[in-house]
Amino acid sequence: MNTAIIGGGAAGYFCAANLAEMCPDMQITIYEQSRRPLRKVELSGGGRCNCTNTFAAISNLNQAYPRGARLMSRLFHTFGPQDTCRWFEQHGVPLTTEPDGCIFPAAQDSHAITGCLMQIAHRHNIRLITNHRIDNPTQLLSQGFDHVVVTTGGQPRMGVPSLFTLRIDDDRLHKLMGIVVPHVIMTIPGTKHRADGPLLITHWGLSGPATLRLSSYAARHLAEQNYKSPLIINWTGTTNTDDASRTLSTLIQQNPGRHISNLHPFGLQTNMWTYLTDKAGIPNQPAANISQRTMNRMVNLLTNDRYDIAGRSPYRDEFVTCGGIPLTDINPNTLESRLTPNTYYAGEVLDIDGITGGFNLQAAWTTGYCVAHAITQKNKSRNSK
Ligand SMILES: Cc1cc2nc3c(=O)[nH]c(=O)nc-3n(C[C@H](O)[C@H](O)[C@H](O)COP(=O)(O)OP(=O)(O)OC[C@H]3O[C@@H](n4cnc5c(N)ncnc54)[C@H](O)[C@@H]3O)c2cc1C
Repeated sequence: MNTAIIGGGAAGYFCAANLAEMCPDMQITIYEQSRRPLRKVELSGGGRCNCTNTFAAISNLNQAYPRGARLMSRLFHTFGPQDTCRWFEQHGVPLTTEPDGCIFPAAQDSHAITGCLMQIAHRHNIRLITNHRIDNPTQLLSQGFDHVVVTTGGQPRMGVPSLFTLRIDDDRLHKLMGIVVPHVIMTIPGTKHRADGPLLITHWGLSGPATLRLSSYAARHLAEQNYKSPLIINWTGTTNTDDASRTLSTLIQQNPGRHISNLHPFGLQTNMWTYLTDKAGIPNQPAANISQRTMNRMVNLLTNDRYDIAGRSPYRDEFVTCGGIPLTDINPNTLESRLTPNTYYAGEVLDIDGITGGFNLQAAWTTGYCVAHAITQKNKSRNSK
């Protein structure tokens, strides 16, 4: 029996390694279009490779996978994040977990992961053919391969980018570059797209976890709008305007002699708060003199601050494509194509993508493993006939 894998990336290598361990007699060939396999894994997580996540902060898989959550939930029964940790540790790669749930190799070096996968491939005599692009998977079936696994990664022509930062043309905002606001809620008005978390102001707009999450949730919508869209930022971190208003009133009552510029509510740094009050034209007066009207303006400013998105730029640490092979075209148990038997799909080539934090590589490991498992099962049932 022999299997061809098209694409020597995370999903391709993980599938090959597991297939080799599950079916020692299987002959496996990886076709890689570039000179160097596993390049993206090498670069991942800024060279440290955020290889998975504890999922502790994820109450619903839709939060981690804006597209493909249902399939991921099903596949996690076969190979989930804990299996990933166990797998790498058992294959000689100790891991470490950061407070935010992101998991990295303890060596803090992506080569720990790529080296492990390459060693397994070498040990099992997996053939690697580099500089070899395959455009038609069925061609390999007709050349005598029993199974073909397509793991060609994100295909820009089949989808749109996800995980990007937002350009906001506002010179005064750019001057606040480097400021992190610990908890904001970002919304695209007129849609259900909303994300919360820390926000980072950059020299050209907005970044940080909340922005990247929003870019992932709204990837298709923003592409349709040509990355021009209104955006609302709630700087208080609470959607309850009454709560925000109460917090502000208490702050004012407790500090009647302080000027507005010295209040900086909701943990907002002085420069940030001054930028906001200037933007709303709120005069800098002692807190005791603030009228109800000014108070309402402040609450509105803090909970409903409007911007115009003027474009996007890729996030330097992670960049994925939203889109790919429609999940309706594959068998959700085996990831085998419903249209072309004996052809399987794994990794980012599928219409599955996650937010930042190790979720995308987890999808590559899970789908790669599940394909290896499905091919093994098929082989066993063939052999027993
Ligand atoms: C800079 C960067 C940093 C990232 N950091 C993280 C991170 O820390 N954590 C995380 O979870 N995710 C991260 N990601 C996302 C993650 O790397 C991808 O989701 C993951 O690599 C997808 O794995 P894959 O095997 O599906 O595709 P890829 O890793 O992209 O591999 C696909 C391979 O197929 C080859 N190929 C394509 N077409 C053909 C063809 N026709 N014939 C032959 N070969 C072909 C490509 O050359 C490539 O080697 C990052 C992405 C980038 C770009």
